[in-house]
Amino acid sequence: MKTYHASTEVNKISNETFKSFQENFGGLLIDIDNETYDAERELWNKLIDKRPGIIAQCTGVSDVIHAVNFARENDLLFSVRGAGHNVAGNASIDDGLVIDLSHMRTVMVNPKQKTAIVQGGATWADVDRETQAFGLACAGGVVSDTGVGGLTLGGGLSWLRRKVGMSIDNLLGVDMVLANGSYIHASDSENQDLFWGIKGGGGNFGIVTSFHFELHELGPTVMMAATMYPRAEAEKIMKFWINFTRDLPDEITSDCIHWSIPTHPGFPEELHGTKVTVLAGMYFGSPEDGEKVLQPLREVATPILDLSGIIPYTAVNKMFDPFLVKGTLNSYWKSLYVKDIDENLMKLIIDKVNDSPSAQSLLSIRNLHGALSRVPEEATAFGDRSSRFLVSIDTMWNDDALNDHCIQWTKQFFSELKEHSDGQVYFNFNSDMSGSEDMTGDSFGSNYQKLIDIKTKYDPDNFFRMNANIKPKGK
Ligand SMILES: Cc1cc2nc3c(=O)[nH]c(=O)nc-3n(C[C@H](O)[C@H](O)[C@H](O)COP(=O)(O)OP(=O)(O)OC[C@H]3O[C@@H](n4cnc5c(N)ncnc54)[C@H](O)[C@@H]3O)c2cc1C
Repeated sequence: MKTYHASTEVNKISNETFKSFQENFGGLLIDIDNETYDAERELWNKLIDKRPGIIAQCTGVSDVIHAVNFARENDLLFSVRGAGHNVAGNASIDDGLVIDLSHMRTVMVNPKQKTAIVQGGATWADVDRETQAFGLACAGGVVSDTGVGGLTLGGGLSWLRRKVGMSIDNLLGVDMVLANGSYIHASDSENQDLFWGIKGGGGNFGIVTSFHFELHELGPTVMMAATMYPRAEAEKIMKFWINFTRDLPDEITSDCIHWSIPTHPGFPEELHGTKVTVLAGMYFGSPEDGEKVLQPLREVATPILDLSGIIPYTAVNKMFDPFLVKGTLNSYWKSLYVKDIDENLMKLIIDKVNDSPSAQSLLSIRNLHGALSRVPEEATAFGDRSSRFLVSIDTMWNDDALNDHCIQWTKQFFSELKEHSDGQVYFNFNSDMSGSEDMTGDSFGSNYQKLIDIKTKYDPDNFFRMNANIKPKGK
């Protein structure tokens, strides 16, 4: 029997108790003495360096139930981990237990019904691979190794968002383990209140072991625009794009991204580090139609590089993968919804990105509206969907010496941006998730009180609290 020197939290458990947990657990239990400990505890965000006492790698529902009961009965601090992409680092916890779902990645597609059952630790690469085998697609994420779990529970914005809504809008049901260890199904006909709450309420209510999604016919190829213009032309490009996105068919989803061309062999060496403004967009429909309607995004000015073309749908969600590799970038992200972008906000954004503290940083503006905005505010926990844009400050850097500077820069930018917004954040793009009740209230708006009631009903002790926490009554 091992002694878990790393963890005072886990060391408080008797050897007998731990042994009985170990005997009934199907997956691996990894601690500091295990040679894979460092690899297994690593999160996507290099800035976060947490050292859990035990990582419990679940192989199925029984392991999840067992781990939840073990944590509750022993009053253990714990976190829930999917693919570990959350920038705030909520997937891990110093000292405590990580309930790790990253080995639960099965995706089962029903091509006839156009549905899929996806295990709680799957990535979007798993989903795209399995669904595209049948010419189907799920509203997921734009970087393939992002987890289905965290992304879906927070909303889920993809290149499909304006056509079929967010990931939560395509959710038919979930199977989950609650704080008391019970295993239940939630859908529009069973445990409706819980189902409403998980659609945007994050990991507050339990551990989802499988998501049931509706799928859509798409692919195998789609038209993708990805045109890089000189940053010096940012004002012209942004003005065009803000106008372009005003009255669009739902089939077009596009972003305006301020970035620097990465130092990567995929780009001509002489362009490495060049500051650019990128117009990127995907057409949900025939690639030939897409070529025509996305053409305007490609001819606003003379591009530095135009990577647009008809590509496999699976490749669309891998486009950014080489530049956002797990464990390589210190990251501090903030995001805010804005109803519109006027001249002043545009100038603020351009001034700030030109003064960005690092070449790896992205400033992404996502065009919203379309199908996602036609879901009423009160229909899901997510909250208000009336904003036209989501502005996301994704500050990323390599040099640890820049940590303070980059974080301060982002906070300052965020506070200036807030003057143009009503304060609603997208929790999935946010480095400060816990302990900020104002932000939680602002973001959930009129849904906040109902969320507190549901939290109080399903998790009265705030057992699940490593998240954008909704506190139950009395806690
Ligand atoms: C490179 C990158 C690209 C991204 N792209 C997108 C994008 O295109 N669209 C978008 O909307 N967001 C995107 N995001 C943000 C993403 O949605 C969040 O980071 C999300 O938390 C990732 O999910 P995960 O399962 O990997 O999270 P993890 O870090 O593993 O988990 C974070 C938290 O989510 C909860 N959680 C995860 N799985 C479960 C589960 N099965 N049951 C209960 N709770 C669970 C837990 O509270 C957990 O602590 C991106 C993030 C990164 C870093």
